[in-house]
Amino acid sequence: MTAPDVHAPAADVLRAAGLRVTEPRVAVYDALRRSPHASADAVFAAIAEGLPSTSIQSVYNALGDFAEAGLVRRIEPAGRSMLFELRVDDNHHHLVCSVCGAVEDVDCVVGHAPCLQPGESHGFTLQSAEVTFWGVCPACAVAES
Ligand SMILES: [Zn+2]
Ligand SMILES: [Zn+2]
Repeated sequence: MTAPDVHAPAADVLRAAGLRVTEPRVAVYDALRRSPHASADAVFAAIAEGLPSTSIQSVYNALGDFAEAGLVRRIEPAGRSMLFELRVDDNHHHLVCSVCGAVEDVDCVVGHAPCLQPGESHGFTLQSAEVTFWGVCPACAVAES
């Protein structure tokens, strides 16, 4: 699968991925461009004003279709809402603030999956490794001190 062109209009990206171009899908895709690592609720909040007829369900549907088409990646920090991002073409990892939930991308150290080798693979063929680094973001560190 070739990675979608992040600068192409959303409609072109959807079409290239074999998806029918609809207004909600375009709005959801553009919302993810503006805010990477957005939850479905955040996407809905971002597009609701411009598309008052959109339901949260249609946002979930669009995100599900994107995931199936390889356009979005889902990340699930423990205890937080599932987040969606358009950066699918590498094996990058995440820093998550344990106070406010802010998420930052960090590049994979070796540049390709799997980033890490376990000490014992139990005969598994390894495909990927996802690392979540937990900590306190600079803004929360300032607020706490
Ligand atoms: Zn924070
Ligand atoms: Zn990311």
